[in-house]
Amino acid sequence: MTDVLIIGAGFAGMVAAIQLAQHGMKVTMLEAKDRAGGRVFTLHDTAANAPIELGAEFIHGRPHEIWDLLRQHKIPVHEVEGDTWCFQDGKLKKCDFFTETNEILDEMSDGGPDQSFDDFLSQTQGSDKAKGWARNYVMGFHAADPSLISLHSLVRGTKSDEEIDGERAFRIPSQGYEALRQLFLKQLGEAGVELHLATVAKTVIWRKGYVELHAQSLGQPVLLTAKRCLVTLPLGVLQARVGEPGTVQFEPELPPDKVRAIDLLAMGGVIRVDLCFREAFWRSIKAPRGSEGTKNLSFLLTQHDWFPTWWTPLPDKSPLLTGWAPFGSAEKLSGRSKSFVIEKALETLASILSISSHEIESLLAASYTHDWQSDPYARGAYSYVKVGGEGAQRALGAPINGTLFFAGEATDVTGHHGTVHGAMASGYRTAAEIINS
Ligand SMILES: Cc1cc2nc3c(=O)[nH]c(=O)nc-3n(C[C@H](O)[C@H](O)[C@H](O)COP(=O)(O)OP(=O)(O)OC[C@H]3O[C@@H](n4cnc5c(N)ncnc54)[C@H](O)[C@@H]3O)c2cc1C
Repeated sequence: MTDVLIIGAGFAGMVAAIQLAQHGMKVTMLEAKDRAGGRVFTLHDTAANAPIELGAEFIHGRPHEIWDLLRQHKIPVHEVEGDTWCFQDGKLKKCDFFTETNEILDEMSDGGPDQSFDDFLSQTQGSDKAKGWARNYVMGFHAADPSLISLHSLVRGTKSDEEIDGERAFRIPSQGYEALRQLFLKQLGEAGVELHLATVAKTVIWRKGYVELHAQSLGQPVLLTAKRCLVTLPLGVLQARVGEPGTVQFEPELPPDKVRAIDLLAMGGVIRVDLCFREAFWRSIKAPRGSEGTKNLSFLLTQHDWFPTWWTPLPDKSPLLTGWAPFGSAEKLSGRSKSFVIEKALETLASILSISSHEIESLLAASYTHDWQSDPYARGAYSYVKVGGEGAQRALGAPINGTLFFAGEATDVTGHHGTVHGAMASGYRTAAEIINS
């Protein structure tokens, strides 16, 4: 019997496993996929010089969970650089997106009763244009339905971001988030953690101080027993109906406050595409008279339906463009073929950059995407709090009888849910809970 069994080898699970094993506990992890990392998923392809991130890409601000490791292991970081351009009224122009959007976002307050972002917008002064951009921001950055997301949670998130320089963004050059994943894999090995890949948890039968986990690996049943179990399943998996691929059944069932917490949170959807071109043709687009040109294009924001947001890897000059389909578009793209998704991305890009479809297709060297919504072991991109859901993350993360523990980005209570550092913070929190239990 192992001391702690961990379900899921994403960043929350890996961080917790390392802490627990370094504390002398016998730790066994099981992971449904044939790779650890979860929603951190970096590809390296010879077609692109830069890392291709299919999941998380940016380090948002300077969270200590990530920066301590970067410093300690001398992993280099680059700050995101360059200009933001907007496509408005049929024209491309340099714009100060955040100044306009902040006009609206700065009005958000948690002084009154909680309400949805849409309800807040309807009661707020401001131009329709600024409101439109603010709504896009919530649908894109938070992957959220603006008619559902809690205003209080947005205010909380903004305050938490301010504490970590959250308006700045960084990347790990050449390796991307893979650098941290590799570090964790090394530390897991050194600490003696037993990691079972391609092993899908099915049923957790438990009583105080004893857990029996029934899983399946390559069609074969697997039985593991432990004194405690740490569940790091993504919110989307916890929300899925029993019997759907990936879901885990608990016997006895999870208590009503846990089930209620799961209902008060939502899993946001996004689809990102990474398009690798033969040359960075957007750097030499004929710019409007009087403007400096698109040489330093970093972000490109539009009101287009399918992929309204684009970015380049600057300061890395690789000919790579990333398109981001937010809440609404992501649902329409999810479940469609890769060729359909890439076609929609190229269509959007061609119309913004005034380039023919034929030309843009001939410039494309490789394309990459991953459908997180249809992925049975993610079932969405990242979580957000619904109106009235204050306290739900804490309830979701609360241990049961000193035996079942819960981590993962959706259990973060520090305002950093939906991020890599939020997931890691939850891993550190639960490791401490288990050690102290
Ligand atoms: C497209 C996209 C872009 C993002 N961009 C950013 C970004 O730029 N910056 C940022 O900070 N964050 C970003 N995020 C969010 C970030 O990736 C997540 O918050 C974080 O990685 C979640 O880690 P986790 O350990 O909580 O969950 P996960 O990484 O999902 O780990 C859970 C693990 O459980 C496994 N699992 C599921 N079901 C089972 C089962 N039945 N049995 C066994 N194992 C199972 C899964 O395979 C997975 O490995 C992004 C996410 C996505 C999808």
